[in-house]
Amino acid sequence: MIERDVLDTKSDSKVNAHLLWLKKEALTLGASDVRIIPADTVPIEDEIIEMCSPPYCEQYGKSANCPPHVMTPEDARQWIRPYHSALIFKIDVSPRVLFSKQGLEIFKKVFLISARLEELSVEQGHALSKGLAAGSCKTVFCRDIPCDGLIKDRKCRYPSLARPSMEALGINVFRLAKEVGWKIHAILRKSDPNDIPSAMLAGLVLVGPGSREHDKASGS
Ligand code: SF4
Repeated sequence: MIERDVLDTKSDSKVNAHLLWLKKEALTLGASDVRIIPADTVPIEDEIIEMCSPPYCEQYGKSANCPPHVMTPEDARQWIRPYHSALIFKIDVSPRVLFSKQGLEIFKKVFLISARLEELSVEQGHALSKGLAAGSCKTVFCRDIPCDGLIKDRKCRYPSLARPSMEALGINVFRLAKEVGWKIHAILRKSDPNDIPSAMLAGLVLVGPGSREHDKASGS
């Protein structure tokens, strides 16, 4: 169990100050809680991407940020290695709101926070920081139109906002949330919101220099 922030003991105090500053920014942007964890504790499992395919998600293959257009979990395990830390953040939401039309706005908020934290981290010199979101960018930004990122000679319409979800790379969000002590309940499309005690959506920002050859998570 990772009950409190784990700062990077191998890095200088500047890196840790950056992580704590980024955490504050995440809370200012509307995150309900944020935890700093070592990047190598992020669980990446092959089976998780099954959640990205029907009947769990109808967007499989329809977005440049969804499987099979992003790296495989096996590649993601290699890709994550150069990163020293990760910020996981959550937004608490009432299950009824999550199942309503308003729920889409909460997903959008995760994208906005993740992309903004990535941008801030890059601006502060952590050039290859990378944000990951929750759900498919197709559902949030391009619900009724084709993904331009998958069309020859075109690019993503929202490159500053669209990110792969954690699940798309094989990250076990359920396990990770439990690991940092957050209550999380399984939610399926067919779930009755009245039967779910609480709900949350989570995003993640990987912080570290990384290397360009590893920066292939997004197909956008
Ligand atoms: S154009 Fe961009 S935001 Fe829209 S579905 Fe494709 S990758 Fe996602």
